[in-house]
Amino acid sequence: MRIVLLGAPGSGKGTQATLLVERLGVPHISTGVLLRNAARKGTELGLKAKSVIDRGELVPDEIMSDIIEERLGRADVANGFILDGYPRNLAQAKSLDTMLARLGNPADEVIHIDVDPAQIIKRLAKRATEEGRVDDAEKTVRNRMRVYAEQTAPVADYYAHRGLLTRVLGDGHKDEILQRILSVLNINTTRV
Ligand code: ADP
Repeated sequence: MRIVLLGAPGSGKGTQATLLVERLGVPHISTGVLLRNAARKGTELGLKAKSVIDRGELVPDEIMSDIIEERLGRADVANGFILDGYPRNLAQAKSLDTMLARLGNPADEVIHIDVDPAQIIKRLAKRATEEGRVDDAEKTVRNRMRVYAEQTAPVADYYAHRGLLTRVLGDGHKDEILQRILSVLNINTTRV
């Protein structure tokens, strides 16, 4: 199961990825988590990334492809993965295609979680208080949403043209949204 989750910041990709991991037993690869861990460790890459993340911009593509390539090369992705936060622009989508083709395993499903922008602003304001992520400050959220609309939204169209994209409504309880995703994946949901 090689699944790519797309959606605006705060659309619930991370939450759904965590729930899917429990169901599918494949690893969750979150570029946001990988970058924040690197920043916490204070590696050169991490510190460089932190200033970009805190401004709500995208970390350069070359850095991201190195990170993803290394992660996809590990043994635990042999049975698949849930990719959350990558690709975030068309160049990254093309790099991912090349990497997966090299591994002989193209993506099976790309799921876009649709959430209304007004709802996103509310959710991220709540997360800013709860988790204290600097990039959840309102001004930065607006920048992340602009970056999303300009650079990441075209990635959904890219996969839609290739018949890989399904849009799932991201409104409602997290278990309800999980059910919608599992039914897209054709997984029996009666035992949930
Ligand atoms: P969210 O989806 O809520 O914005 P993430 O944790 O996925 O949160 O990402 C946080 C930040 O990490 C992004 O705003 C960006 O600065 C950086 N980032 C994550 N993934 C990528 C990527 N694929 N390319 C460039 N930057 C990225």
